[in-house]
This record gives sequence, structure tokens and C-alpha cells, in this order.
Amino acid sequence: MPSVVISGAGVAGLAAAWWLSRAGWTVTVVERAADLRTGGYMMSLSGPGHAAAARMGLLPKLEPRAYHIDENVYRDRRGRELMRLRFHEIIEGLDYLVMRRTDLIAALREDLPDSVEIRLGTTIADVEDGSDGARATFSDGTTCTADLVLLADGMRSPLRGRLIAPDTQCLKPLGYRFAVYEMKDEMGLGDGFVSYAEPGHIVEYYTLEEGRVAALHVWHSREAGPVPAAERWDLLAQVTAHSHPSVRAQLEAVRKSGGMPLVDDLALVDLPRWSRGRILLLGDAAHCLTLISGQGAGMALTSAAILADALSRAPLPEALAEHEARLRPSILRLQDRSRKMAGMFVPRSPVAFAMRNIFMRHVPRKWLGRYFLNAVNAEILAAQGCAAKSG
Ligand SMILES: Cc1cc2nc3c(=O)[nH]c(=O)nc-3n(C[C@H](O)[C@H](O)[C@H](O)COP(=O)(O)OP(=O)(O)OC[C@H]3O[C@@H](n4cnc5c(N)ncnc54)[C@H](O)[C@@H]3O)c2cc1C
Repeated sequence: MPSVVISGAGVAGLAAAWWLSRAGWTVTVVERAADLRTGGYMMSLSGPGHAAAARMGLLPKLEPRAYHIDENVYRDRRGRELMRLRFHEIIEGLDYLVMRRTDLIAALREDLPDSVEIRLGTTIADVEDGSDGARATFSDGTTCTADLVLLADGMRSPLRGRLIAPDTQCLKPLGYRFAVYEMKDEMGLGDGFVSYAEPGHIVEYYTLEEGRVAALHVWHSREAGPVPAAERWDLLAQVTAHSHPSVRAQLEAVRKSGGMPLVDDLALVDLPRWSRGRILLLGDAAHCLTLISGQGAGMALTSAAILADALSRAPLPEALAEHEARLRPSILRLQDRSRKMAGMFVPRSPVAFAMRNIFMRHVPRKWLGRYFLNAVNAEILAAQGCAAKSG
């Protein structure tokens, strides 16, 4: 029976575990976190990612957990309303789900057979690749020899540097940072979706169930690199120094409650090859797209399906080459979108920002609807063309 060790129980790692366990592989997943509830931001699933979830039979689990946002309201830093959109009307007829990443992770986890071993609070300390197998040494000192090692441990994959390419060569920051956290909606910020913005910074709040809110900040940043946990709230306080008072009050409330935001760069992972020997990078570790292009989780699901399909028909080296050949064109298109859209994602200069606000305030609703629908369709189109060949 072939065997695989997977580093990372995120979207890519769990989807690969799902497909390979069904194909008869012995699967061991190691996850650094002590549980699978980290990274609870909002995301959308559409195009090939939605189709991959459908092929996995996940939709009956995901649809009840998806959010139906009634209205998206956009405000400026003074709280003045710029635009009000019924986004669900715009995407009507499209296969499109808005959900929390944690709900996607939970659905993937629930559907794994008991034979899949998940070792929480564990990492791979080292991998030695050999002709008879790759020997992984785990952080608890135990070892395991497998036919394939998947590094599905996210944009900052720690082993990628040693085994494939250093971060200095493959991590390409786009000039923004983001922060995500969840909190109680103590200020009654709204129902559905509210966004506040000023030059160089936007914040979006999605109302969740039970009076909770998921917050996402994106801002221009000349600095890049991991932000230590102890510095994150101070950094956010600086970023929001000129934001609407509700934004600052929410931030202060969640800081006092002891929560910890996830803060990172919007950075592409750009590599000429995703594998070496029996080691394959998967998902963001191989080709992080950033939230600017969308489709990162969708591509992680799609990639796992393509990999399992290729492995079912060809020996390992050919299967890894086929997986990369089928996925890469979509990845290149989506990364190109991220690079092109980065400059205008959050206008930095007051003039560009004022033009954005005029556009939002005065363009007829019908045109705005068309503009947003075109953007969603362009994103889906960029991702398409890489679906797995067999069921
Ligand atoms: C704010 C935000 C919004 C987004 N919106 C969308 C969207 O709307 N649509 C979309 O499709 N995509 C979206 N994405 C992108 C999407 O979330 C990612 O592309 C996707 O989660 C990638 O999956 P992954 O499994 O490769 O990585 P991750 O989901 O990051 O999972 C990596 C896993 O590896 C674990 N790990 C890390 N280091 C180690 C280690 N050393 N050992 C073991 N485990 C480790 C982590 O704890 C984690 O569980 C968004 C991303 C962000 C940040």
C-alpha cells in the first residue's frame, strides 16, 4: 500500500488526505496547531474549487454553514455611506459560497476515514529523500518512511526553504499586510457586511451567528515579514489611527478580550518547480495567490484532486509532473491578476481614494452590479481549465 506523510492540516493537506485515503494510500497528517480551529476568516468558494467540493460530496455540509449576506455597505472614514449592494443578487445563478475557513476545514475533517492519522501539535523536523522512500523525522522524535511527502503547510512553509528554495527567492510581497480576527459585535456594527476605508487601509466586518463578527484589515505596508504576536495589536492601532471611531473602539475591545489577530503579508509564492524527488509542495506552500486574486482555497482543493487523479494513472515522477503541468496555467493567471490588481486594491493617495469614493457614490447601481459580476467572472475564468480528468 503506498504511503504519504502530509505536513499541514489546512485546506490542501486535508483535501489531499481525503483523496489519497480513498485511493488506498496510508495517510499520516501532522499539524503544528493544537487544534484545527485556527484561521477563522471569511472566504468564498466558486469556480473549480466549488466544483472540487461538489465532487468530494462536501456541499451538503458546506451549504448549511455558508453565509447569506443580505447587504454589503461601504462607508468612508467618517462613516458616510458610499455604496450599498445586494451582493447575493449580483451572484445569483453562480455556484458561489461564502463561508469561514474553519467551516471548510471542519467539513473536510469530518469526512476523513478513521484510517487517516492526524497528529496535532506536531511538525516535521526533517526529511531525508531516498530511492526507497522519504524518511520524515517528526518534532516528537519519531520517524516514518513514506513514498511521498506533501508540504501543505501554508505560505510560510518552514521546510520549503531547506528542501526546495529559500523564502528570499520565492516569497514576493505585494506591498500589503492583512489582519484577521473574530470578536463580539459589541458596538452593533451592522448586519451583514460593513466596510470602512481611508487612504491606504480598508477594514471589512462580516456578521456571523451569535452576535459575532469576522474582521479583515488590509493596508499598505513598506515592511514585510512575520509580525511577532506581542507587536500585532500595536501595529493595528497604528494602522487604524485615522480610521472611524467604531473601528478603533472594536479593536480596543477585542484587544482587551485577549484575542490574537492573524497578521501577515499579502505575498505570492512563485517557484519554478513545486517538487523535488518524493517531496511535493501543495497549496499556498507551492503557489500562494493572496486574497487579491481569490481562489486560493479553491485551487488547494482542485490541486489535491488533480494530484490523486495523476497518481492513480502514473508512477510518482510522471504523476508529479502531470499535476504541475495541469495546475500551473491557472496559477499563473491568478498570480498575474494579483500582481496587476495589487496597485489599485486599496488606493493609497488621497486623490486616488477620493476618485474611488466618487465612483462608489455616483455610478448607477446597475452598472456597479455589472462591474462586480464581471470581476467575479474574471476570477473564475482565470482559475478554470485545470479540472481533474477522471471522477
Ligand atoms: C484573509 C484571507 C482571505 C482569503 N479569501 C479567500 C477566498 O475568498 N477564496 C479562496 O479560495 N481563498 C481565499 N484565501 C486563500 C486561502 O485561504 C488559502 O489559499 C488556503 O487556505 C490555502 O490552503 P493551504 O492548505 O495551502 O494553507 P493553509 O490553509 O494556510 O493551511 C496550512 C496549514 O499548515 C499548518 N502548518 C503551518 N506550519 C506547519 C508546520 N511546520 N508543520 C505542520 N503544520 C504546519 C497550519 O497551521 C495550517 O493548518 C484567503 C486567505 C486569507 C488569508
